[in-house]
Amino acid sequence: MDARRPRRLRAPTRHARALAATVLVCACVTGCVRQLALPEVDGLLRDAGWRAVILDDDLSLFSPLDVATAEEYAGLVREERALVQDLLELPPADAPLLVLLREADPPSDPLAALQPSRDGVRGVADAHAVSLAVPTGPGALPPTALRDVVRHELVHVESRRAGLHGPSWWNEGLADEIAAMDTVDGRLVLQAEPLELGWIALHLDDYPDTRVFARSAAREAGRDDLFLYSFHRSAVRHLLGEHEAATFAATARAAFEARDDPDLPRRWRARAATRDVPAMIARAADSESAETRAAAAALLADLAAAGLPSALTPEADALAFRMLDDERSFTSAAAYLLFTRSRALDASLVDAAVAHDDPWVRVLGLALRRARGGDVSPAEIEAAWAAAPEDWTRELMLGDALPPGPPER
Ligand SMILES: [Zn+2]
Repeated sequence: MDARRPRRLRAPTRHARALAATVLVCACVTGCVRQLALPEVDGLLRDAGWRAVILDDDLSLFSPLDVATAEEYAGLVREERALVQDLLELPPADAPLLVLLREADPPSDPLAALQPSRDGVRGVADAHAVSLAVPTGPGALPPTALRDVVRHELVHVESRRAGLHGPSWWNEGLADEIAAMDTVDGRLVLQAEPLELGWIALHLDDYPDTRVFARSAAREAGRDDLFLYSFHRSAVRHLLGEHEAATFAATARAAFEARDDPDLPRRWRARAATRDVPAMIARAADSESAETRAAAAALLADLAAAGLPSALTPEADALAFRMLDDERSFTSAAAYLLFTRSRALDASLVDAAVAHDDPWVRVLGLALRRARGGDVSPAEIEAAWAAAPEDWTRELMLGDALPPGPPER
């Protein structure tokens, strides 16, 4: 098609909604790289259930959103695609990319839409198409807020073209690594000091780390949490570090060749063993990135629950207490304190929590005091909880502290 022809059409038909839902369901089963089984552009055009359609040389975009928003998404896709193509030293594609936008389900956690797609919920991709779940409605996040998700999915598209498509741990790790790259002077630059939280998990003897080396395209471990996400990225980052070449594309190619090296898990573990776990978590807790801070707190809670000795110290307690001040780390830090450390905590920390300015920390302090056998009634905790302001970023799981269950709010 010669010129961009955004068109205003009817509201999405039931069929269009069903189509988008089908794409979503398919994607959830196997992760965010798959054959999308999307209809051809002609079929999408016949449906006519889209509010905006953009047909250009480089992309065919179908959107249930208004024309202006669709244009913004098209601009974002073009910008990110050019960056990824430059990074992987690829020429522009010779066929338009199919971009299918669908309305995201109303998020229970608005920040969830900003996180990379780990499970196909926010985006899916194959060699020629990308489907993105986009926030809609009053107060919806602007398209640029989805930059990481868009870039992640475009890496899947372009890495196939570059011949860098492999087992799913590689695909997801590379997409996450590139999605996290900084843009400097119009080019993508690898982050200088990655957190590599996944390394820490390797200290757990019972963690089946080799699962991430599975060759299967299916989701390899049945776990889709931040742990596994970090693992993917960590494994790819390790390979990139082993094969540093003149350009990122050359490095990625060398690393891709080495991905099936049977000695890789051993080397990966050996490097992990040299890491100072508490220092890494403490460093991550001071990161400027809220997601990194949240990941550090989650990891502290996970490792403590798993019994990692270095995560069960007064220093770790103090760190968790400090993490309570960060709304994105609060939930995990509170879980660490309440479920793993309540009886081991220094009494001064509990007193400080009860006297804290933040009403959420006060609720936690009361629950801690009760869990330690202190004279605190469930009614007192309920009253403190009811007085705390609504806050969708924080969650408090009080467990046995409040029989027979959490109070109504
Ligand atoms: Zn992905």
